[in-house]
Amino acid sequence: MKNLIVGNWKMNLTIGQSLLLSERLKNNLKNPTSDIVVCPNYVSLAAVSIDLKDSIIKVGAQNINANDERAYTGEVSGPMLKGIAKYVIVGHSERRIHFGETNKTVALKVAAAVRNKLTPILCVGENLHQRNEGLAGRTVTDQLEENLSELTHKEISKIVIAYEPVWAIGTGENAEPFEVEKMIKTIRRFLINKYKAKIVVSIKLLYGGSVNSDNANAYLSIDNCNGLLVGGASLNYRQFTKICQL
Ligand code: PEP
Repeated sequence: MKNLIVGNWKMNLTIGQSLLLSERLKNNLKNPTSDIVVCPNYVSLAAVSIDLKDSIIKVGAQNINANDERAYTGEVSGPMLKGIAKYVIVGHSERRIHFGETNKTVALKVAAAVRNKLTPILCVGENLHQRNEGLAGRTVTDQLEENLSELTHKEISKIVIAYEPVWAIGTGENAEPFEVEKMIKTIRRFLINKYKAKIVVSIKLLYGGSVNSDNANAYLSIDNCNGLLVGGASLNYRQFTKICQL
């Protein structure tokens, strides 16, 4: 299966800066062996999507509302994203921590994405406390249990899962590849036990957490790790290009 490299630009870059970055990526990424996705902020999303229309680089959103239409000032729904984005990040730890997203909210958002033909990139991962208590595996499988609960068995194959230990996001403290390998195995085993192996075998499992062009290869070499979710380093076109061409 082809690897998937996703750049999460978070709440960075104006429209002009976003377009500069997408242009640079377009011009520098030559025949990457992986599928590439960039996730600009909502203000820049349409402009970047138009800029990358005929490019190999696909576009993702960073969030989605669980409802398709409502009097919810400031929110963005699946039908609005259809045609602009192909992917959407759901359940990122920054949204769980700073915007109070519960496992139930995340489950409804995953379902909204699938309903609107967007591929959800579901983020799961333990925080430092849970890690220190030896609860990392349990935390992640509990999240998966709840976050996938609004999908039918058939719909499960339409998602991407990113293992993102919270303590490794934006900290420069990346997880050791052997720890990631263990968790990737746990996630795959959970999926196989819960759903039909035939359905879950194509689900891409990514790692995210302080990935850069120096450490990316160690994760991509992990058995069953099918790509990366890159935050900070995706804002630097040289680094991101390097990661995409590994
Ligand atoms: C992320 O935003 O999902 C992420 C992993 O960020 P960073 O690479 O900066 O740790």
